[in-house]
Amino acid sequence: MFEFLSSKFEELFYKIRGKGRITERDLDEALRDIKLALLEADVNFKVVKLFLENIRQKAKGSNILENLSPFQQIVKIVNEELVNLLGSSGGKISFANRIPTIIMLMGLQGSGKTTCVAKLAKFIKERYGKTVCIVASDVYRPAAVLQISNLVREYDIEVYSDENSDPVTISARGVEKFTRQGCEVIIIDTAGRLHIDEAMMDELINIKKAIKPHQVFLVLDGMTGQEAVNIASSFNSSVEYDGIILTKLDSDARGGAALSIYYTIRKPINFVSTGEKVEDFDLFYPDRMASRILGMGDILTFIEKSEKAIDQEKAKKLEEKLSKNELDLEDFLEQIRGIRKMGSLNKVFSMLPMMGKSKLLKDINLDDRQLVRVDAIISSMTRQERRNPAIINGSRKKRIARGSGTSVVEVNRLLKQFEETKKLLKQLSGFQDSFQGVSHFPFTRTR
Ligand code: GDP
Repeated sequence: MFEFLSSKFEELFYKIRGKGRITERDLDEALRDIKLALLEADVNFKVVKLFLENIRQKAKGSNILENLSPFQQIVKIVNEELVNLLGSSGGKISFANRIPTIIMLMGLQGSGKTTCVAKLAKFIKERYGKTVCIVASDVYRPAAVLQISNLVREYDIEVYSDENSDPVTISARGVEKFTRQGCEVIIIDTAGRLHIDEAMMDELINIKKAIKPHQVFLVLDGMTGQEAVNIASSFNSSVEYDGIILTKLDSDARGGAALSIYYTIRKPINFVSTGEKVEDFDLFYPDRMASRILGMGDILTFIEKSEKAIDQEKAKKLEEKLSKNELDLEDFLEQIRGIRKMGSLNKVFSMLPMMGKSKLLKDINLDDRQLVRVDAIISSMTRQERRNPAIINGSRKKRIARGSGTSVVEVNRLLKQFEETKKLLKQLSGFQDSFQGVSHFPFTRTR
């Protein structure tokens, strides 16, 4: 999902992360990179234009060019604008005051509509504990009714259909029957066509009149990018709907539809479908999606783990040292022992923002066994050496290698790694400030 944009943003952030200051030219260049990435991801050009304008305005408004940590500011602004682009309020479902709540789904054939009917039914039943029934009126594709029945069979969800009637009659009768039964939520699967045509729109209008749904959702295939936006727009001018269910996001590397729809049609994406299984379905969370696009990783999980493993007092002292760039090998050793408490290194780093494919990290060996050797090497140094690694000359290196059962090459590697880590930690400590509410990262911060 959105791998294309994620890798583009990662490249961009990597380029500007190390900069102490960002000039007007840097900002122009960053905006140009973002523009190309978004256009290549099939985001609507008008949306791209607006997005860039907003970022520029905000960047200027926040005095980014004078700011001491411009990188964090840019990430923060881009993140906020992405959330806005995705429709900041996100997915929700509202139930009618009196039962039943009637929900109507519509969409073109192949969009994933039938699968979504089953998914939504299971979702509402399990998440909200309501009784859910389905009316299947897609008689033009006879297999659709059987498909729904098969998908919901194990979830105790009743399905009504009648192959000898027309979709409007089936819908009306189905709603009547389930209302009588006291069903709390009734979902209607309407008939799709391969293309938008008048007959389909008329039929949908008539179904809508007959059943008076509380909510109407349009199902769109996310993989079709701008085409999905055009379809959303055509439906919008004929049949009023409340929100969108975007499907096949698991196969959509570019994300053009997700990023264009809200700004273009002003309809929220309520749900997303991310696979063929009935459970691959959820409410849409713009903030999580933006985080994913920006490659922010699972920050909250990371924080939670780090809070458990890191001693707050020590972390505070360390943060002070880090801000003065005074990190020494004693601190390094302590951090390595802290990391080892958190689990495997690769797992820990995979949770870090933008660490997925970071060039810097590729240079650092993430082998867990390596940590044991690093521990041994640092433990074989004198206190003075740990505090001031610059004094470690050739003969000292030999002594340390002997004492730790390693080699001079390994000692050299560690010293190099230490320098790299210092750089990385400095960047991370700055990065973290962009997230209000995120209280601390290991190595850098306490509440
Ligand atoms: P309909 O013609 O709109 O009713 O579409 P279907 O529900 O029959 O779905 C069409 C095809 O897309 C089926 O093979 C589904 O399994 C598949 N499909 C539906 N939703 C998703 C999804 O979120 N991800 C993937 N990968 N496939 C999906």
